[in-house]
Amino acid sequence: MPFPQPPRVRDRLGARLLRVQEGLRKSERLAPGELERTQFRRLEALLDHAVRHVPFYRERASRYGPPRPLDREALQALPIIDRADVQAGGAAFHSLSLPPGHAPAVEVHTSGSTCRPLTGLTTEVTRFQWLALTLREHLWQERDFSLRLASIRPDRLAPGQAQVAFQDWGDPVARIYRTGPAALLSSSAPISEQLNWLRDQQPGYLLSLPSNLRELAIESMNCGTRLTHLRQVRAYGETLTGDTRRICREAWGVDVADVYSSQEVGYIAFQCQAGSYHVQVESCLVEVLDEAGSVCSPGEVGRVVLTPLYNFAMPLIRYSILDYAEVGDPCPCGRTLPTLRRILGRQRNMARRPDGSSFWPSFRQRHGWVWRRSASFNWCKRPWMPSRSAWSWPGNSRPIISPPFLPPLPGLWAGRTGSSSG
Ligand SMILES: [Zn+2]
Repeated sequence: MPFPQPPRVRDRLGARLLRVQEGLRKSERLAPGELERTQFRRLEALLDHAVRHVPFYRERASRYGPPRPLDREALQALPIIDRADVQAGGAAFHSLSLPPGHAPAVEVHTSGSTCRPLTGLTTEVTRFQWLALTLREHLWQERDFSLRLASIRPDRLAPGQAQVAFQDWGDPVARIYRTGPAALLSSSAPISEQLNWLRDQQPGYLLSLPSNLRELAIESMNCGTRLTHLRQVRAYGETLTGDTRRICREAWGVDVADVYSSQEVGYIAFQCQAGSYHVQVESCLVEVLDEAGSVCSPGEVGRVVLTPLYNFAMPLIRYSILDYAEVGDPCPCGRTLPTLRRILGRQRNMARRPDGSSFWPSFRQRHGWVWRRSASFNWCKRPWMPSRSAWSWPGNSRPIISPPFLPPLPGLWAGRTGSSSG
């Protein structure tokens, strides 16, 4: 099927997602200075909200308040926090109020290399952003949506459910385009079973975690299994090493498109067809800093510090995600979004059963008791959190300026949530 496939938008959310792509296509070619200025204006709005409505920042208002306008120097004067700070702070990071269009907030539980989970919050706006940027990544890669999509991942299955089949790719693609079928298998299945499943599915695209992909590719070569329809592999959730890329190419003859994201932050960067990781500046301010806290130049490796610009339910301002990245050069694809050449860190290992078979452990299933018992998660119920009764709107909220790229969407989230496999 020739690309692009003609849209056949199903509903208002699909229409909105398509319109937002037009804005994203413009913003990804803005002058770098213009992108940064826009980010700083968004950060000012987030900081103003945080010192008014979020206990952690309110108690430190002298450090997070003025000066305005914010510039790079003022940004670097703000404290850096990390996962341990957020875990220790607990509910102090949760906003007491939300601007119009952001509610309801929903909990997300994240795992991590420390094996200690973190409870994050998403909002109407951040969930929409996730969909819009997911679609952007599909369009950047010019995928053929008519092909079959297979996902092998540790989440999105009901307890006890091993696999599920869908008639389409789900959100966001199937809202806008006609797609082929999709299927989802739990990554807790033994690698040999995963490979048998893939051989039956014969997908055009395969989505999984890098450690799982590596084991699958090795097993595939050992067994001589061929995935003749496979066009591309999509990786997420862990560091994708050059070695794993090479093994996947050797096993299946396809490239791997990598996505850099985290559950508590959302999308950070993803690859274009030229191979650069483009920072998703419309939703996240990304700093790569050396040991002295200065911004790294192209070719230098530094720690990644993130500020998601639209999460007003749980602002994370200058959040060190404990990853490292190498800053890249301008990309030949022509997009002006800053680039990362490599992402380092984020390695999570495959687990092995006593019989030697390997699988990717599902944190939710294996360690659910940790967060149920942890004293650090005794956080307070906020009035805007969804509950069995209708949530009430707090009286002290105030409007903020509309985000320039991804506006809040009151009411649009209602309706089909889909299989979310795309
Ligand atoms: Zn590029």
